[in-house]
Amino acid sequence: MQIQRFSGGFFFDDSSNRLKELFKVNQTEVVRFEPEFVAIPFDQHIGAPNKLVVAIGDQVQKGQIIAKSSADISGHVHSSITGTVVEVCEVPALGENTQTAAIIRRNQSKDHTESLIDANFSYEKTVRAAGIVGLGGATFPTHVKLNPADHIDVQTIILNGAECEPFIASDDFLMQKESRKILRGGEIAREILEAKEILVGIEKDKPKAIAAMEKAANKVKNCRIVPLPVKYPQGGEGQLLETLIAAESPLDGRSVETGAFTINVATAFAIAESVDERKSLTHRYVTITGDVKKPQVIYFPLGTRVKDLIDACDGFYGTPSRIIHGGPMMGKTITDLDFPLTKGSNAIIVFNEEHDGKVTESPCIRCNRCVEVCPVRLEPQNIDLAYRNDDLFTCDQLLATACINCGCCTYVCPARRNLAANITKAGAAIKNEKEALEDAK
Ligand code: SF4
Ligand code: SF4
Repeated sequence: MQIQRFSGGFFFDDSSNRLKELFKVNQTEVVRFEPEFVAIPFDQHIGAPNKLVVAIGDQVQKGQIIAKSSADISGHVHSSITGTVVEVCEVPALGENTQTAAIIRRNQSKDHTESLIDANFSYEKTVRAAGIVGLGGATFPTHVKLNPADHIDVQTIILNGAECEPFIASDDFLMQKESRKILRGGEIAREILEAKEILVGIEKDKPKAIAAMEKAANKVKNCRIVPLPVKYPQGGEGQLLETLIAAESPLDGRSVETGAFTINVATAFAIAESVDERKSLTHRYVTITGDVKKPQVIYFPLGTRVKDLIDACDGFYGTPSRIIHGGPMMGKTITDLDFPLTKGSNAIIVFNEEHDGKVTESPCIRCNRCVEVCPVRLEPQNIDLAYRNDDLFTCDQLLATACINCGCCTYVCPARRNLAANITKAGAAIKNEKEALEDAK
């Protein structure tokens, strides 16, 4: 199949590739971790906030809904273990924030196994009941995504197995272990959307995943596995579409307008488990790597604390300097090890002093390198300058809200300017201002 390279982006340099090799997870067997208690945040999706539907003291089963909203754009949250709700309290969130969570203590050695999803539900209702959201990190409710506007004619289902952020191996491992279920999820999406073909994009540095998926794809009609160049950010939705079907996504992010429906391979896996096994989304795979003694991909119940998973990897290697939720390019720093992992958690990366590349900013030298790598063709240096001058009007004119927060500009900047973080803040401030204006009307 003919593919084309997406605009912008870059190839990691030798020092990054050496670190990739050092932090590589080498494992063949599934590692499961089941803690004594979990802290399950009510909101693990983009959309309307959920309300708690259980009370302190209630016995809950694994897969039972504990928080939900009647709004369409929302994602139900389930208990990930069988136990007792012992507390509702604030727990750490990303940044300096907190979030409300239900603390559930395990009180049976065996989790409940009977399905709690109605067997008569349609595919779409099942996906909603199972609380499935985009597991590549976007956390947008999947049942909403599966219901595009009437004028959209979806021809192609794209399963995103690119996993282009360094060090993360969660999707790679999932594709090696669960290739059939992933493609089954793609087939269900194809049936719902009446699409024709399934394409699975996987970066070429995952040969075992490509082999496993190709073997499974032999039994699926109109399904192709497409090995992709190892170029960052290949896993961005827009970049994947550009590479696979030569389509340009609209800047507002509604990529389905291109006639292709894109979901992460982990989301496809969750869809298959919900439809065929009536399972709610209670567990996922996460990569724990970097400066930990035993880097691993772990299958864990949602609500497990970072500290418990670090312990499951035999603890830190050296003294941690920075811990990132997600990948090193797009992830966010976490400062409290009580932070609970949720639906959007695909990796925890630990850097000790030796590997934490702390840098000092200097003035922009107008080299234009940030512009050359920006995959959405923005002017990062100019948006950054406008943001530093509190000039949101100019940031808006320069399309700051179209930034996909890939971090390419920051990575290549010789002046070490904190471009991506500032542009993301500018985009958020513009959106907030516009929403406030709408509300005031
Ligand atoms: S972080 Fe935003 S501005 Fe920077 S390269 Fe990526 S998309 Fe462009
Ligand atoms: S890469 Fe850095 S130094 Fe070069 S133009 Fe962009 S902001 Fe300025």
